[in-house]
Amino acid sequence: MARLPDDVIKQIKSTISLLRLVESQGYQPKKQGKDYVVSCPFHNDKTPSLVISPKTNLYHCFGCGAAGSVIDWVIKTQGVSFRHAVEILRNDLPTLAAPVQPVTRSTVQKMEVLLSGDSEARQLLNQVVSYYHETLLQNPEALDYQQTYVDTYAKVAHCKLYTTKTPITAADLLNDRVLPFYASHELPVLRILTDRGTEYCGKLEQHDYQLYLSVNEIEHTKTKARHPQTNGICERFHKTILQEFYQPSLRRKIYGSLEDLQMDLDEWLNYYNNERTHQGKKCCGRTPVQTLEDGKKIWMEKFVN
Ligand SMILES: [Zn+2]
Repeated sequence: MARLPDDVIKQIKSTISLLRLVESQGYQPKKQGKDYVVSCPFHNDKTPSLVISPKTNLYHCFGCGAAGSVIDWVIKTQGVSFRHAVEILRNDLPTLAAPVQPVTRSTVQKMEVLLSGDSEARQLLNQVVSYYHETLLQNPEALDYQQTYVDTYAKVAHCKLYTTKTPITAADLLNDRVLPFYASHELPVLRILTDRGTEYCGKLEQHDYQLYLSVNEIEHTKTKARHPQTNGICERFHKTILQEFYQPSLRRKIYGSLEDLQMDLDEWLNYYNNERTHQGKKCCGRTPVQTLEDGKKIWMEKFVN
C-alpha cells in the first residue's frame, strides 16, 4: 500500500477544525476563555476535563491524559486505523474546513487562478467552502446528518435525514424504516454492526440506541479497531449515494427543507433497492431486494424445512 503523503496529513491537521469535528459527532463543547471544554469520551468524566484549543487545533484531557490531533480523535472515537482515519477526514475536508478570513477583495480576477488548481486557488476554494459552511452553521436547520443502514448481505439500504446526530435519531431510523421493511419481508433482524460513534455506543442502561436494540432483541456488534474493511460496505454505499444522488440533485435543485430532500432521497433509495443492479459478490447483477428475497428462499429451505 502506498504511503500517505506527508502534505495530505499536514493539510488535514491544519485544515480540519477539531472543534467542528467534535461538534459534528454530537458533543457540545462549552467555550472557556480561548478554549473549549467537553466531557472526555475516553474516561468516566464527571466534570468536563477535555480541553480543545482552536488555536493549536489539538485536544488534551486533564483527567486521563488523552491528547492529540484531529486524526488521533477519529482513531480513538471511531476505533479505526491511522490510514482509515485519514481517509475519513479527507472526505470531510469540504464540510469541516477551519474558518478563514472572509474574502474582502473582488475575486473576479482570481477565478482564473481557481481553475489552474494551484495552492492559491485551493485556498480561495476553501474560503468559499468556509463561507458557505459559516452561513450553514448560522442556520442550524440547514445542517443535516444522514443515518444510514446497509444490509451487509443483500446491500439493501435505508437512509433518513436529521438535523442532529444522536442515539435517538439512530434508533428512529431502525424503528421507522429498517424494522418495518424486514417485517414486511418476514425476516428478523438479528444483528446490527455499527462503528464506535457515540450515537451508537454508551452505557446500556443510559443509552437510547443500545436500549432500543436490546428491547428488540437485536445483537449489537461494533467495528473493530484496525479492521477498516468491516466498514467497507457502508463506505462503498456512501460513495454511490454521493455520486449518484447528492451531487446531481444538489446541482440541479435548491432544497428549501429537509423534507423536500428526504422525498427525493426516498425516491432514489427506492430505485437503488428495487431497480439498480449491483455487481458485488452476493448480488451478481441482481437488485438488492432480489438478492434479499433469493437469500430468504435459501435460508427457509435450510432452516425451516
Ligand atoms: Zn479523559
